[in-house]
Parts: sequence; structure tokens; C-alpha cells
Amino acid sequence: MNNLLDYTLEELKTWMKENNESAFRSTQILSWVYKGINEFDNMKNIPKPLISKLKENFTISLPTIIEVYKSDIDGTEKFLLGFEDGNLIESVLMRYKHGNSICISTQIGCAMGCKFCASTIEGRVRNLTTAEILAQVLVVQNYINERISNIVLMGSGEPLDNYDNVIKFLELVSADYGLNIGQRHITLSTCGLVPKIYELADKKLSITLAISLHAFSDEKRKEIMPIANKYSIEEIMKSCKYYISKTNRRITFEYALVKDVNDGREDAKALGKLLKGMLCHVNLIPVNEIKENTFKRSSKKTIDDFSEILKSHGIEVTIRREMGSDINAACGQLRRSYIKTQKIEGRMKW
Ligand code: SF4
Repeated sequence: MNNLLDYTLEELKTWMKENNESAFRSTQILSWVYKGINEFDNMKNIPKPLISKLKENFTISLPTIIEVYKSDIDGTEKFLLGFEDGNLIESVLMRYKHGNSICISTQIGCAMGCKFCASTIEGRVRNLTTAEILAQVLVVQNYINERISNIVLMGSGEPLDNYDNVIKFLELVSADYGLNIGQRHITLSTCGLVPKIYELADKKLSITLAISLHAFSDEKRKEIMPIANKYSIEEIMKSCKYYISKTNRRITFEYALVKDVNDGREDAKALGKLLKGMLCHVNLIPVNEIKENTFKRSSKKTIDDFSEILKSHGIEVTIRREMGSDINAACGQLRRSYIKTQKIEGRMKW
């Protein structure tokens, strides 16, 4: 059965016409779906025969909320969500003064192998469908009964490795008949799949592109990110400049600071030189310490010094505030610890 969350308005109109129904009903149906109604019988203005037809052909399938963990420190909420095939993902809700922001996943696991990331330890299990990406926003919005206004695609998975589904998600989530979240309020983070950055640039979307850079040289980058063996920093920079030329959007470079690996003054100077003059912004991230590796977080002084050196090169810098440190909020950590518990207790279904 097809999940209605996979359908654009145009696609649903086409289906209606092919099934001898009035196309205008499509807008009514999708407006119920995006209001959080997931039972066809509750769509009050839809005639009964059409409801029966919809039931025969569609589902409105949302993941099950397995657990919600709330941070006592800052109110960040982490949702562990389960799909019908038994797979789990994580979505994180962060509350800011400017509105609610959600960090969502695009794949179950990840194939990219970044050394500091728990999502990739067991590789990529599968891509999420468009509906499954979208459903994370919908299910959390329904749960908190408040609007979500910002989205970051920065949870488990490499978004550009699931390109078609992610592009369709961006279309659906920003559509006025859908959740109507403006593209300027959406950030897509990639480890740097160069050919896909060019493809994305040609779409001329107004989303923010974030590049997980984490090192200024290929040699250093290869130590922590296997993708660096495939695409050099020079190639990434070229694709970023192309992206800026097509979209006129500022790029964010994510830089996770790891003690004694990439946090030295020389690293900061080289990074400053690399990015000088570019329409960009650097987001420094104190690395999350996970059990599965030995990476340690840089001291506050090191982080501040690093930031000052970048600023002296005319680069805008922010230091990411840590959210939900008491609830395993780093990507992939919660899913892994939950799977382990379930395996020990011998139960994996809900
Ligand atoms: S940081 Fe992102 S791209 Fe790298 S392994 Fe984790 S989920 Fe994949």
C-alpha cells in the first residue's frame, strides 16, 4: 500500500483523475494529513465512497514513538521512533527562543564511516523513504502539539546518499499545502559527496548547505572521514563555490574539534586561509565523546582560541551549544544503546 505522505499534491491529483474522482479533493485530503489526522474516517468533508477507495489504496503510516527522553538541562527531547519493519531511528527536538527545531534522520545507519559518529558503526541498513523522513517532523509536531519551524538534516545517515527521497522531502515539507516550513529554515548537512553538491546547486533551493569538514587538509581528514579518500578538499571547495554561485546562499562548515587531532593553532590558521573570502560561516562543535572511540573533547580555552584565529581571518564563527548532553543526544548513540538492551532482553518488536 502507498503511504499518502509520499505523495505531492500533483501526484495525488493525478491519482484522483485516474480513479474518476474530483481532483480538488486532493487538497482537502492532504490538509487533513498535515493537520495530524491519520484515520481516513476522521476526514469529515470527504464523501464515504471516496474514503473507502482511499482505504483500499493508501495508508497514512507514521512511526511508533518507542521512547521519549527529555533533558533536565535544556529541555531537549530525543525521540526513539520505530518503523513497521523493526528498524529504529532517532529525531531530536530542540527548543529555542526563535522556535522549535528538529534534527531528523535520512537513513537507518550510515555507510560513510566517520570515526567520531555512532550512526555508522554497523553501516547503512537502508534508506528512509520520503514519507519516513517527513513522518519524523509530523509525529513529533503532533506529539508536542506545537509548530516545528526549523529542520536540520543532520541525524543518522548521509542525506545526499539518499538524494531522490531527500529532494522530494524538501519539496513536500516546504509546500504550502504541507507543513509549510520555508526552505530558509532547513539545513542539510553532508560529509561532502561532490557530484551531488553540484546536482543540488542546480536545483537552486534556498536551504542552507552545511559541509562536515572537520579538517583543513586531506591527510588529516582521511584520519577521521573515509569519504576524504574519494573527494579532496579542493574538489569540495570547488563544488561549494559553484553552490554559492547558483544559490547565493552562505555555506556552513561544520568542524568538530577533537583534542590533539584537529584543534591546534596551526589547524585554525590553515582553515582560516582555506576559507578566507568565501561566503561562509564556521560552526565549531565540541566533539561528542562516545564509548566506541577514544576521541576526547578540546578544552574551552582551545575552542575559544581556535574561534579567535578564524575570526582574525574575517570568518564568521559560532560555537555550537551542546544540547541534551544528559540524554545521549549525539546522533546514533541512543539507537545503539536501545538495540543492545533489546538484544539482551530478547525483544525487538513493539
Ligand atoms: S557524521 Fe553523518 S555522514 Fe558521517 S557517519 Fe555519521 S551520519 Fe554518516
